[in-house]
Parts: sequence; structure tokens; C-alpha cells
Amino acid sequence: MTARIVVLSAPSGGGKTTIAKAVRERFPDRFGFSISATTRKPRPTERDGIDYYFQTRQQFLDGLGAGRFLEYAEYGDEMYGTLKSEVEKVLQSGKHVLLDIEVEGARQVREQYAPPRSVSIFILPSDPRVLLERLQSRKTESVEQIRRRLDRAEHELQQSTLFDRWIRNDDLSTAVQEVVTIAGEPADRGRTRERKDFDWITNYGRLLQEEARRLYDQRHQQKG
Ligand code: ADP
Ligand code: 5GP
Repeated sequence: MTARIVVLSAPSGGGKTTIAKAVRERFPDRFGFSISATTRKPRPTERDGIDYYFQTRQQFLDGLGAGRFLEYAEYGDEMYGTLKSEVEKVLQSGKHVLLDIEVEGARQVREQYAPPRSVSIFILPSDPRVLLERLQSRKTESVEQIRRRLDRAEHELQQSTLFDRWIRNDDLSTAVQEVVTIAGEPADRGRTRERKDFDWITNYGRLLQEEARRLYDQRHQQKG
């Protein structure tokens, strides 16, 4: 097995964190995880050095200046970045390294580790309504933050065509198994996409915005 970088990206609520965690837990001898640095505040269940390295903006900028990041991006007014040391540590142990990162970071990784050294996977539940439901039921963002994350989803969906593979995150075990299979395949396998998959991705953004609007209109009416 040649160890490679496995990039998982998705609009917020798509399931990348859950899938990355499950892959790592079920196959600890084959997959490691790169813990990112971020300037965002920890959520109640998150721990420094486990979920993220939580840093001040100054610490993050110092790291950037010192060339410690493989990639970085700004998301929702906060900085997020992959530390070179994290990636190298896992690759040197002979395991694939999972990166749970947004689309701009994914592009930077692809530039530096072209396939087959990396494989990039874009994740979505089949139905946009499910994405919205999952995002809301996670209860980690305010309504305003959810709205901003949905706005960003539009851009992320446009970038999805640059990814090597798309996965439908409906049943978690199936999605996990797909990531494991893809990591072990030659990078160009499965790149041929069917017309229905293109139609699905193309319509996704529009449907998601419609659902979001419906939701906020309902709320507004209830309040009014
Ligand atoms: P992301 O990291 O892409 O923002 P998460 O992994 O946090 O998304 O998933 C969003 C929510 O959806 C979480 O509450 C998670 O438990 C749930 N979830 C993720 N995948 C599935 C799945 N296949 N089936 C049911 N719930 C899921
Ligand atoms: P969250 O705040 O929900 O944990 O993450 C917000 C977004 O930042 C998600 O799309 C997540 O994948 C992305 N992200 C997390 N870590 C990194 C990173 O190291 N680099 C980049 N580019 N994005 C990251």
C-alpha cells in the first residue's frame, strides 16, 4: 500500500467530519488524521490537540510566516490550515492521511500532491433537504451562521467538479466503505461520471437555496 493524502470536502453538514472519524476508528492501522490549526473558538465538545489546534490569529499568522502550513484558507472570518508536520507524521508511518478541509485548501493540496499522491473526494447527502436537516440538528451554529454556510455551499458546489470523486453520504457505513475503497484504488479509476451525477450536482445548489429560503420564510411567518 502506498500511503497517500485523502482529501474530504463537503459543504457544511455534508458529513466529512463524521466520515473521517469513522474511517479512522474502523481502520486505525490504515488511516491517520491531520489535525488542523484554526482561529475559530472550540465547540463545547471539542478539545485542543484532538479536534483542532486552537490558535490566536497571531499564532496562526506566525505559523504562516514560518512556512508551517501545507495549505490554508479563510472560512467564515476564521483561518484554517493544514500543518505540514501533521501530514508528514502520518505518511511516514505508512498510513493514508485524511484531511477534512474546505475547497480552496483542497485545490492547494492537489497542486502540491497531484494524483495519485493525493485523491480528493467531494461528499454530499443525495437530497439537499437532508443536508439542511443535518446541519440544523447538529445545533453547533446560529441561524445566521447556517445562512452564511449555505451561501458558501454554492461556491463549494461549483468547485466540486475539480474533485477526483463524488460520494453520496446517505448511509454512513456505505460512505465510509467508499472512502476506504477509493483510497486503495488507482487515482484515475472511477473518474468517468455519469450524466445523472452531473445533473445531480448542477441542480443541488439551486435546490439547497430553495429549501433554505422556504425554511427562513416559515420561521419569519411563525414569528410575525
Ligand atoms: P461536516 O463536517 O461536513 O460539516 P458533519 O460530519 O458534522 O458534517 O455532519 C453533519 C451532521 O450530520 C452531524 O450531526 C452528523 O452526526 C450527521 N451525519 C453525518 N453523516 C450522516 C449519515 N450518513 N447519516 C445520518 N447522519 C449523518
Ligand atoms: P468547522 O468550523 O465546521 O470545523 O470547519 C469549517 C470548514 O473549514 C469546513 O469546511 C472544514 O472542512 C474546513 N477546514 C477545517 N480544517 C481545515 C484546514 O486545515 N484547511 C482548510 N482549508 N479548511 C479546513
